[in-house]
Amino acid sequence: MTTETTEKPQDAHQEAHVFEADVARLLHMMVHSVYSDKDVFLRELVSNAADACEKLRYEAIAEPALLGDAPQSRILLTLNEEAQQLIVEDNGIGMSKAELIEALGTIARSGTRAFMERIEAAKAGEGAQLIGQFGVGFYSSFMVAERVDVVSRRAGSHEAWLWSSDGKGSYSVRPVDLAEAPARGTRITLHLMQEAKNYTSRFEVERIVKQQSGHVPVPIRLLSKPGEEPVEITDGSALWTKAKSDVSKEDYADFYRSVSGQYDEPALTVHFKAEGRHEYTALGFVPSLPPFDLFDPDRKGRMKLYVKRVFITDDAELLPRYLRFVRGLVDTADLPLNVSREMIQESPILAAIRKGVTNRILTSLEKQAENDAEAYRRFWDTFGAVLKEGLYDDYERRGQLLGLSRFRTTASDEASRSLADYIKDAKPEQTAIYYLTGSSLEQLKASPQLEGFRARGIEVLLLSDPIDSFWVTSAPDFEGKSFKSVSQGATDLAQFPKTETTAQEEDEQVSADTKADIAAFIAYAKEKLKEEVDDVRSSDRLTESAACLVAGESGYDRQLEKLLAGAGQLKATSKPVLEINAEHPLIKAVAGAKSNPALQDDVVHLIYDQARILDGDKPTEPRAFAERLGRLFEKALKA
Ligand code: ADP
Ligand code: MG
Repeated sequence: MTTETTEKPQDAHQEAHVFEADVARLLHMMVHSVYSDKDVFLRELVSNAADACEKLRYEAIAEPALLGDAPQSRILLTLNEEAQQLIVEDNGIGMSKAELIEALGTIARSGTRAFMERIEAAKAGEGAQLIGQFGVGFYSSFMVAERVDVVSRRAGSHEAWLWSSDGKGSYSVRPVDLAEAPARGTRITLHLMQEAKNYTSRFEVERIVKQQSGHVPVPIRLLSKPGEEPVEITDGSALWTKAKSDVSKEDYADFYRSVSGQYDEPALTVHFKAEGRHEYTALGFVPSLPPFDLFDPDRKGRMKLYVKRVFITDDAELLPRYLRFVRGLVDTADLPLNVSREMIQESPILAAIRKGVTNRILTSLEKQAENDAEAYRRFWDTFGAVLKEGLYDDYERRGQLLGLSRFRTTASDEASRSLADYIKDAKPEQTAIYYLTGSSLEQLKASPQLEGFRARGIEVLLLSDPIDSFWVTSAPDFEGKSFKSVSQGATDLAQFPKTETTAQEEDEQVSADTKADIAAFIAYAKEKLKEEVDDVRSSDRLTESAACLVAGESGYDRQLEKLLAGAGQLKATSKPVLEINAEHPLIKAVAGAKSNPALQDDVVHLIYDQARILDGDKPTEPRAFAERLGRLFEKALKA
């Protein structure tokens, strides 16, 4: 039942190869897969066939002879129920012997390791989602086939090769007669497993192809029985050239899946034709699920560039990095077909297209935010941290991106507050947008620096993404209000009245004696902590805690300084300011304990270390800290 016809004369030329270790492992997983959705293999093979046709069209621009007398791209699916075979054939670029070995015996993409880890950890059903994304699509044929034969003839070549494997660790390669190979391109024969027989059913295959690959830009024909005439099941017309009104939501979703390799629904579809100085069509999708490599530093944008419907490259960086989650394509007639890599980088036409598409995507997001806050919220939860990179990278669009940004604040645990909301609810006398940066929401919420703001009902943005510290220090004013860190410099909080719940504390009269004690204590603390802090002062910031640390008026915000120091980018860090809460019983008590200098000394240091801990740091000298604490415990227990 296997490949007898090609076995006879060339046996001597047959080479046996062992799969690369990673491939072998991957195949093992495919064969023993628990994926419920095995249909995906067909989508992967069709997508490879279509890619091969597009690659040929591209190469034929420089070398038209490659097309010979059959310029039309086509994909043919042949079913043979009796022999239990499904054959996928294309007349695309084809593969040479070396390419067969390279493409089907190794895994080129660097993401393989990550893929294996993810797929091993994946729950049933999730695995299929991952296959397309990680570029290991071909191997998925072993989910349904016990043997796969690939006969390929590279366009323009006078050799044809057969690659064959049962997916169990090795494969063979040998030359085949040109008469047994396609005139050009690749024929993949799947010898289906018993339980995968259904893939020889015409209805089944037609349904799957229409559903999964209905919009690949190459027509697909289906030959359901040997000897019959093939029937065209998809016409290969480019969806993006149609008018928006002629494309259904399902069509867009299908196309999105075929262009992205993801299986989710697009969360936002942007389709438009630009006319005027530059003419192009853009079709972009925002996915609803994040791709696995969203934060991979090498990850580039994934918008494909077409010229007059011919695929040119997916490397043209048609969108800024902070929109790298958008999938889709741009098709233009304004560039020559033989556009080179250098031209792509320098072309003013592409620069204009880039700008146009970026603007359109951002305005579409703005519209979504306005019309469907819930959908926008989901978008923000998924891709907000990426979009925020633009606040730092895209100087020109910072204002617009600030408008699109959503925040966690002291008023909301979810990233749902816009700056417009913030400003609408701000105090009338407020001139700043207050924020606090830190490494986690929990740490931020527990920060003593927030107390005075909470007590006065002033909202503070809680910024916990690493990128936040970078953009916020250089952010422009938003609607006339500047960004101000609540952990930097002196506050102007005294001008805002406290809300009623906490106002009673203020009624307590502070005696002149206490005031004098506090002033003396501040001077004392300044002296004791002069190595550690720049200043000690009394604070409006605090209501419940005894003390906190803030950054000086100029220089870096505390969190940014920590990030830079952590990355080795700062030679010296600046000293913070210790602010104390003069109304706190602990401060009052220690200020009054003049007759006990040893105790005062311990407490001053402990207050400082406590403030460090609340800031997410360690005490400066853990040993001294423990000893001081020990002495106090002892005293308290003896008393
Ligand atoms: P990907 O398509 O993401 O690169 P695949 O596992 O689907 O990963 O395919 C691996 C490689 O095999 C492709 O990149 C391509 O070079 C080659 N290939 C697969 N199918 C074909 C085909 N029908 N024609 C030409 N080359 C192919
Ligand atoms: Mg593929």
